[in-house]
Amino acid sequence: MRSLYRATRVHTLSHPTEGEWLLIDGRHIERVGSGEPPAADRTVDLPGCTIIPGFIDSHVHLTGTGLAGVGIPIDTARHAEELLGLVAEELTHGPTKILAHGFDESDWQPRTLPTMAELDELGETPIVLVRADGHLSLANSAAIERSGALQHDGIERDQSGNPSGVLRRDANSRVQRWFHETLTEHEIRELQLQAASLAAGRGITCVHEMAIPAWRGRRDIEVLLEQRMQLPVDVVPYVADMDIPYVMGLGLETIGGDLSVDGSLGARTAAIGEPYTDDGSTGSLYLDSDELAEFFHNAHLAGLQVAVHAIGDAAIEQTLVVWERVYRTLDSRGRRHFRARRHRIEHFEMAAPQQVERAAGLGLAISVQPAFDAEWGHPGAMYEQRLGERRAVAMNPFATLLARGIEVGAGSDSPVTPLDPMYGLWALENHHDPAQRMSREHAIRLFTVGSARLARLDEKKGRLEPGMQADFAAYEADPFVVLDPRELRPVLTVSRGRDVSAR
Ligand SMILES: [Zn+2]
Repeated sequence: MRSLYRATRVHTLSHPTEGEWLLIDGRHIERVGSGEPPAADRTVDLPGCTIIPGFIDSHVHLTGTGLAGVGIPIDTARHAEELLGLVAEELTHGPTKILAHGFDESDWQPRTLPTMAELDELGETPIVLVRADGHLSLANSAAIERSGALQHDGIERDQSGNPSGVLRRDANSRVQRWFHETLTEHEIRELQLQAASLAAGRGITCVHEMAIPAWRGRRDIEVLLEQRMQLPVDVVPYVADMDIPYVMGLGLETIGGDLSVDGSLGARTAAIGEPYTDDGSTGSLYLDSDELAEFFHNAHLAGLQVAVHAIGDAAIEQTLVVWERVYRTLDSRGRRHFRARRHRIEHFEMAAPQQVERAAGLGLAISVQPAFDAEWGHPGAMYEQRLGERRAVAMNPFATLLARGIEVGAGSDSPVTPLDPMYGLWALENHHDPAQRMSREHAIRLFTVGSARLARLDEKKGRLEPGMQADFAAYEADPFVVLDPRELRPVLTVSRGRDVSAR
């Protein structure tokens, strides 16, 4: 069946760059053109509208996004008391357990977290409050006990040696995984579906799912793979699991994704060379270099594309040194194949100029989260609190990465920042460093062509040209020129030829 979409403008991000109509045949684009349109079985008229390629979000946690959508809106809390108040209010509805996501004490006044005593005063119901970045949780005694988190490292203790309620590293993983293990398969399916529908409603036609079995169990990715084809948007899965046979057994050609080489700056678990200015620690490297080298080497030889999460300069350094080690073992043919694999580093936030050069030299691809800069990169915000002005100013050098010829794609890390490419575009244009700001067209390319290339799907996605998948969205205002894109929502989203618009 051939469908014709007629609009005022079709931006193809290809040649020709613009048209007035788009003809699709089933799941694929047949032609884009101007003037008299060809005959079709069905015509969709979108007068005044602009069609653009569907956005591709290169870093999403679907189940977490679904949960954040139905949970307590703790991201709105402005201090510890308000956070506790929101939880107390929820407890009046009699839940059997609570997990809420999104508090960010870096813009609280004062920035003090609630104490264990305050969390325990709320009662016997297990409570887990996950920091915006996911790398730190607050848990009450009931949640710590039930989850068995005490047996894991990362339990912060107060002066008298008792748990403070702050959980990092393995203890944070354990308490989140405990919660997710209590969900039914049906609940997980529904949360993933809700998140995928939200994506479609925002003009996204494909997401790179960053599954984290350590936080959500292996069942989470298994449920997603079962329903992948029924979801409104296309899903490219990455699994943060070092068990290569397991991941290959799932039928995937990718591995890692959000596999933690370090943690986050917000939780002070990102591994950095010089200490955090606000507490003197240096974060932590989660993996041993030999272990990481063996993993990279074996996964590469198995034909997989490998991605890892690295935020701090010391974690980026470890990742680069280990890739350089693996690269040296390859002959010249092996080295060409290596580059074509586009192994990825997620976040890459504190990269020093020489580290950018080395990533470019290896042909590594970078998955950036522009909204991180909008949320935390500006003067006085969290990065400056944690790192001081000198280091904060140099972070997230997006334009430099592009100028060095590095493959760059963009994502939200939803639910860490909103699942909304328009916010990402705005963030790219309003980078804290004017030298790193990007034009609207370059910003749109990052979230379409760039993210397609990161998943090695650039022959199928990211542009509107004959033979490519019919992935696009239509807007009443032209996203290429509208002054502030943040409120812009599509009137139509089509993913692989299907109308998946929000209803
Ligand atoms: Zn990550």
